[in-house]
This record gives sequence, C-alpha cells and structure tokens, in this order.
Amino acid sequence: MKLTILGCNGALPAYGRFPSSQILDLGMELFLIDCGEGAQLQMGAYSVKPSRINNIFISHLHGDHYFGLVGFINSQGLLGRTKEMHIYATAKLKDIIAIQTDWPLPFEIIYHDLQDGVSEILIDNPKFQVRCFPLDHSVPTHGFLFTKKGRLRSLLPDKIQEFEIPKYFYSQLAEGKDYTKQDGTIVLNCEVTQSGKGNKTFAYCSDTGYFEDVLAAIFDVDTLYHEATYLENELDKAIARKHATAKQAATIAKKANAKKLIIGHYSSKYKSIDEHLIEAKEIFDNTELGVQGQVYEL
Ligand SMILES: [Zn+2]
Ligand SMILES: [Zn+2]
Repeated sequence: MKLTILGCNGALPAYGRFPSSQILDLGMELFLIDCGEGAQLQMGAYSVKPSRINNIFISHLHGDHYFGLVGFINSQGLLGRTKEMHIYATAKLKDIIAIQTDWPLPFEIIYHDLQDGVSEILIDNPKFQVRCFPLDHSVPTHGFLFTKKGRLRSLLPDKIQEFEIPKYFYSQLAEGKDYTKQDGTIVLNCEVTQSGKGNKTFAYCSDTGYFEDVLAAIFDVDTLYHEATYLENELDKAIARKHATAKQAATIAKKANAKKLIIGHYSSKYKSIDEHLIEAKEIFDNTELGVQGQVYEL
C-alpha cells in the first residue's frame, strides 16, 4: 500500500501547497481521498493515472476537500471514461455535482451517502475493507480507515511444485489448510507455505478538532494521517474552528497506539511547517510531515 499526497494545506492554498487530496495505491487500484482544488494538476505532476481511480472518498463539504472534484469528473467524461465511479460522501454532494456536470456523462456515478455521526463499513471484499467514522468538525465530517487484507500464509512456489499441489487449492493454502493428495497422503501446510503478511491499515482524519472518540475506530493503526492545522500556541483558534494542533495530532497517534503519524492540513499562516514536526515529535517520535508529491510506503 502506497500513499501519494497531492495536497495537504488547509483551507487556502499557500506557499505552493495545494489543499487536501491523497491517492492511496492498493496495488489493484487507486483510491482518491478528498479532492481539493488543483488535484488534477497534481495527479499529472506526480504520474497518477486518473483512469485507475474508481472509488472516491470525500471527508466533508468544505471547499478545500472537494473543489477539484467536479473538474476531475468532467475531465473523465471528456476522456471517454465508461467505467462507473463510486463516490462516498455526504448526500448533498450529489446535487452539487449534478448542477456542474450538466451534460450526459458517458459513465455512471454511484453515490454512497455517509450518514452524519455514523460509523460503518463502506467496502468489504477479500482484498480490502474501508470503514468510515465520525470526526468532530464544524460540518458533518468523516474519517476513513483503509485495511489492505493480508494473507495468513504465503506460498512457497518451489515446494508447491515439488508436492504437485493444484492451482485451485492455492487460496486454501493461503488460509492455512493442509492438502490431501488423491492417494490420501497429507501435505502439511507448513511444508509448502510460510507466515504471510498481515493486514495493513491506514487512517485518514481530516478535518477534526481533538476528538478521542476516534481512538476506538483507529486503535493499533499502522499509519495515521491526522490534521495539524495549528501549533499549540494557537490552541484557542484550533478549538474555535474545530481543528487540531500538531501536539493534539501526536497525542491521538500515541493514544491510538499508531505505528506512524503523518501530519498535514497546515494553516496558510505558516510559511514553514518545521515547527509542526518538532512539536509533534515531542509527543510521538515516529511522525513525518505530510509533503505534497511525497510517496509514503505504508
Ligand atoms: Zn480543510
Ligand atoms: Zn473543514
């Protein structure tokens, strides 16, 4: 799983930093998480193939998280896309898109409405799961937890050949099952597999004030992206606007037992964001700055 940040500034683009948008690469396809202004240009700049995006997750309807979406949808139509597109967002977004795409798009958009205050599973298949959960912001806002499912066991190709195990049984081997040959001989699972990679998780929490309710949803997460709009000396502003400070983001990462924290959604008042990193690291050492164009191996 790889994460490419297309933009991670706050409400206003500033100092060359674009508003929120990220690409989560699950290997088989790309997820688009928020789509702030300029996201299309950023996809071009960082070699992201828009045609591989079939699922879009919009955290909330503040412009810095979705003003790029209509442009993206229109471009996909102009490029002759026929594959359906799934959008997970607050129901109101449907009308906004309908008004601005007033021509027959050559593909279908399937909307999945996120209910205010509700945590639920949005996608669940053998390869991955996506769950949404409420955040604490000035409008209905959701965070997302993405899980790439690992296999219990991974196969040893040489051994599989040696024991002549048929292809149809590979998925059962990955689940830890033994294989019984036609003559009744049992091939033990441990002879042909080794321990597999477990699940990988990534949580996206933006925008939100300091909100411990998210801990239950993201506990033990591998990588947490959490907004850090302000520094702690602007805590009053953060509270009033329902945003978080770098210190608060780090505190959530620590309490959630996260393995790694990436911070972002910086206020346009900060030209340098070095202080955000210093402040967060004092609480949670394994913190990295969100930097647009950077690819994070999760
Ligand atoms: Zn925002
Ligand atoms: Zn917001």
